[in-house]
Amino acid sequence: MKTPNGYDEIKRMFGNPGLRDGTVNAIWEKEHIKKITPPAGWQLYYQMDDALVKVSGIRMHRFLEGSFQSVLRDVWQHALNEVGRQSNDETVRAWLHERRLDIHGGGYNFRPKRGGVEPSLHSFGIAIDWDPIHNPRKNPLTCTLPQWWFDIWKEHGWHNGRKFHTPDPMHVQFATGV
Ligand SMILES: [Zn+2]
Repeated sequence: MKTPNGYDEIKRMFGNPGLRDGTVNAIWEKEHIKKITPPAGWQLYYQMDDALVKVSGIRMHRFLEGSFQSVLRDVWQHALNEVGRQSNDETVRAWLHERRLDIHGGGYNFRPKRGGVEPSLHSFGIAIDWDPIHNPRKNPLTCTLPQWWFDIWKEHGWHNGRKFHTPDPMHVQFATGV
């Protein structure tokens, strides 16, 4: 799947989540947004303000199911190589959890469009935030997510927010040019 560049390509590929009045298109949401489960072995968490909650998946655009699962399979494989010969699912999960690579802060999240500004890519279900507490959207860049991890996302067509005008390192998105 080719990564779309700019809102026209994004809308052609994923549809349009917003109605003319800026509110969510409930029919689009019902057809396209679903909870995508991680590959075998994974335990994902959602970061609440002061607690981590185990989750069975992340709500996002269903077209990204295969891509998302491929990324997580590669991340798992990387962890497996690092953990070495004593590895089993539990040690891999622990390795990922120590690095907080299993904590997300939101996938699909429709935000009404304000004053002609295009909606966030979370509104399309094509962006995910990871470990938001340690990778806040702010200047200067503060990032604990490792380079190899960003590289895996990139190999699967996902870009990240580290170079945004206000750096947003927690954020990965299946799009460029926005
Ligand atoms: Zn984000």
